[in-house]
Amino acid sequence: MPGATFDAPDLTTFARLDEFGLVVVGQRLEPDRVVLACRVVARDDDAFCRGCGAVGTPRGTVSRHLAHEPFGWRPVTLLVRVRCYRCEACRRVWRQDTTAAAEPRARLSRAAVHWALVGLVVQHLTVARVAEALAVAWHTANAAVLDEGRRVLIDDEARFDHVAVIGVDEHVWRHTRRGEKYVTVVIDLTPIRDGTGPARLLDMVEGRSKQAFKTWLAGRPKSWRDGWRSWRWTASPGSRPLPPRNYPTRSR
Ligand SMILES: [Zn+2]
Repeated sequence: MPGATFDAPDLTTFARLDEFGLVVVGQRLEPDRVVLACRVVARDDDAFCRGCGAVGTPRGTVSRHLAHEPFGWRPVTLLVRVRCYRCEACRRVWRQDTTAAAEPRARLSRAAVHWALVGLVVQHLTVARVAEALAVAWHTANAAVLDEGRRVLIDDEARFDHVAVIGVDEHVWRHTRRGEKYVTVVIDLTPIRDGTGPARLLDMVEGRSKQAFKTWLAGRPKSWRDGWRSWRWTASPGSRPLPPRNYPTRSR
């Protein structure tokens, strides 16, 4: 890179936390994980009471632990210090707003949730592997990914427009004593065919691919079913080889 310029190293931007309203103020490197101490980027209205508009009194901080996207499979945990306030006039208490970093009460940062969804849908990771890389419980990872999948899909009502090529992909979602549970992922491959961008997630349906896809298709309006042209089973968007049917999984 002749002539390339470099900025000073900066953990906040490296971990992409500037996009989520956080600033890294400390790091703790452990053999099997990284903890980044963060503060919330202060906003002008942090200290003002939402009820009466008076200036609140600082009431110390609370810590919020968030799993963040891993770095090289090493789990990264954010330890976020959140300032608390109290209104002396109306007794209201509140904290700095951290919704840019994570959903209220969530255990995963927004970046971690996105990483997990991409890992499952595009990279074919198991929920167990995702949970391991995020250092969270299986159920935590599973719930976060399903919520995010729904949120991403529901937020995009036009996602079925202009779909010409559909990919259908079966995932072993969970191994149980009584067998495997499956989720079938429906993908729009039109952008790949046209060379205009990556594949898009269209839907996630519980069940095995053939039956699940049939049921899913039957639920679409007839005009839409008649409109698209082709579908195929796909390992994942792009041209990855078909992975084995059953993925070896580690213990939960
Ligand atoms: Zn007040």
